[in-house]
Amino acid sequence: MKPIVAVVGRPNVGKSTFFNRVTKSRDALVDDRPGVTRDRLYRDARWEDTEFTLIDTGGFLERDDDPFAGHIRVQIQQAVEDADAVILMLDGKSGISPYDRDMIQMLRNVYKPVLYVVNKIDGAEQETQLADFYSLGKDNFWPISGEHGYGVPDFMDELVRVLPPSEPDEPDDMIRIAVVGRPNVGKSSLINRILGQERHVVSEVPGTTRDAVDSVCTVGEKQYRLVDTAGIRRKGKVSLKIEKFSIIKAFKSLDRCDVALVVIDAHEGITDQDITVAGYAQDRGCGCVFLLNKWDIVEKDHNTTKRYYEELRMRSKFLSFAPALTISALTGTRVHKIFRLVDEVYRQYSTRIGTGQINRIIERAIEKNEPSLHLGKRLRFYYATQVAAKPPSFVCFVNYPEAVHFSYQRYLINQIREEAGLDKTPIQLKLRQRT
Ligand code: GDP
Ligand code: GDP
Repeated sequence: MKPIVAVVGRPNVGKSTFFNRVTKSRDALVDDRPGVTRDRLYRDARWEDTEFTLIDTGGFLERDDDPFAGHIRVQIQQAVEDADAVILMLDGKSGISPYDRDMIQMLRNVYKPVLYVVNKIDGAEQETQLADFYSLGKDNFWPISGEHGYGVPDFMDELVRVLPPSEPDEPDDMIRIAVVGRPNVGKSSLINRILGQERHVVSEVPGTTRDAVDSVCTVGEKQYRLVDTAGIRRKGKVSLKIEKFSIIKAFKSLDRCDVALVVIDAHEGITDQDITVAGYAQDRGCGCVFLLNKWDIVEKDHNTTKRYYEELRMRSKFLSFAPALTISALTGTRVHKIFRLVDEVYRQYSTRIGTGQINRIIERAIEKNEPSLHLGKRLRFYYATQVAAKPPSFVCFVNYPEAVHFSYQRYLINQIREEAGLDKTPIQLKLRQRT
């Protein structure tokens, strides 16, 4: 699990420009999600040998009902609570702005690495613009230019120096399950229901990474690790106040799970934010099950379930492999079925396919439907192999990878799904030039 760095600051200070500079662009990894625009609010990054995830927490908050000051407050609170390090970015071009002082005040006495950055200092000659900022009562601002790179290497060296090290999650035999979703959809009710089932033997165990407390439950012969449950359960008891969705918390549990249960409040209906959360699960390479919760209070006729499933399919096309189940955490309806679905998703998610079989599948797919010519040359697929499981990931060697049309790649992925019986897991297919 990589450390998470929250970048906080007002809009337009240059956060996404900075992200672009320090994140390595992903190679031509194509997965199964046509038409989904990756938002730019989080990126996996690497500096020297250190890997981490950068998140622009402000971008995830809804602004409508929130005055600007409140918006900044929530942004910083979440960053301080949930991230492993915080970068406060200020704008050296526009100078000190309202709230800069408040933001710095809020970050005082935080027991986590906090780095203060003045962006848009495009060269040494502009460092004079820093002078104003010292009146904010801090004497350690890093001048950088996200756009032109000035000061960035020194700053990044410092960032990776103060970051806690990545913690490898120790492997165990349990299937790891994360429960994610918007506030109030019923996550803590569901977890309590699962853990409260008579025949489930439950224990709270420290997560294999810092801060995490997981629950292990035994269902039949099998053990499951529900990751990061302690926080969710406790929250259920404590607060009635409106909770904000914490993207950092969601990422942390998604990064540690095999299968994500994406809980949706079916009574309220499927919302854009539900789909966004599911998109994160997909992004982090998790298996995924949709749970349409509060089914006890949904008005229904014999077609209702089907209509919900269809709407879900339509709105989350990129997750068409994820099964869905209607449940009630309150009454317990169909909660026992979750584990059977999780087992099936996990079985596929951790599948390994022999090289012979995957090559036969690709050959047959090409025979059935030849790729079009590239600049008059024939595309050749030489050899395919599975390079990883969880999720199943394949590499296929081609003479001109960049000439393979996206839709053809999708066709190949679908053929693998069909022939290998992988209809319920994300899979990845990477094309590489044969050298
Ligand atoms: P965000 O809203 O914080 O993500 O800000 P953006 O990254 O979208 O940047 C806002 C504006 O500031 C854009 O017009 C950028 O071109 C500009 N900008 C960002 N970084 C720099 C920089 O280092 N120097 C200068 N001169 N402009 C910058
Ligand atoms: P969380 O914020 O996602 O953890 O949601 P909670 O578990 O705290 O649930 C939010 C509210 O929804 C609480 O009042 C629960 O009692 C209620 N709730 C949760 N699951 C169900 C359900 O299946 N049916 C009904 N009717 N209410 C539910």
